[in-house]
Amino acid sequence: MPRTVLVTGGNRGIGLSIAQAFAKQGDRVAVTHRGSGAPDGLFGVRCDITDTAEVDAAFTEVENELGPVEVLVANAGITDDTLLLRMKDEQFDRVIDTNLAGAFRCARRASAKMLRAKFGRMIFISSVVGLYGNPGQVNYAASKAGLVGVARSITRELGSRNITANVVAPGYVETDMTAELPVAQRDAYAKAIPAGRFATGEEIANAVCWLASDGAGYVSGAVIPVDGGLGMGH
Ligand code: NDP
Repeated sequence: MPRTVLVTGGNRGIGLSIAQAFAKQGDRVAVTHRGSGAPDGLFGVRCDITDTAEVDAAFTEVENELGPVEVLVANAGITDDTLLLRMKDEQFDRVIDTNLAGAFRCARRASAKMLRAKFGRMIFISSVVGLYGNPGQVNYAASKAGLVGVARSITRELGSRNITANVVAPGYVETDMTAELPVAQRDAYAKAIPAGRFATGEEIANAVCWLASDGAGYVSGAVIPVDGGLGMGH
């Protein structure tokens, strides 16, 4: 059955791959952007997820155009890396406010309509780093680990209403975010990954689409790694 899907940060990167995968299977797909506009064929809503009023307005726009959001993919995220000793309060706060609180704002806004519909799928895009840790990413890893607590608490709160909440934890993926890494660091990461390479956005999208499918209705509070084996033992 076609669903209404909202992918935050679906204008580029992993979010765009996820949005395109849902669109390909016939779902009604909306993506948020912060001014870039939406890629061809996708319905775009302008939204900065650090602003509660913008999140509310974006959901209202999607509801008016495509119907209530049945599948939320909380994907938008940022990094602001530096070593612990040098990390400023603002750097820590900004990453938490976007990656963790932003996902919370979207989940809270989505939950009312999901409760009414007695159906909902929330998928939070975390990272292997959330559970594995990474030097220089205290802020980012904390935000991504926090999403596990969010998804598991939602599972306990809303699980009896046919609403699932799961986490997808990608390893390194070919996007703008990883393009910023120095070549030597990229090579070192690739060597540490059992699969020997970074993932494509489509490989992340496959797991997300499955979690949103009817067939995954009894999967909730799970953390699904899509990391080529990098984080084994989580
Ligand atoms: P990109 O840097 O390519 O894209 C980030 C996306 O998030 C953009 O769409 C951006 O919008 C959006 N975004 C950032 N801040 C906000 C905000 N305040 N409000 C709304 N949208 C915002 O990232 P990736 O595609 O690489 O990453 C997507 C997700 O996957 C992130 O959560 C990331 O942490 C996670 N991830 C990525 C990995 C990787 O290797 N790339 C590995 C593991 C996890 P805009 O275009 O307006 O800037």
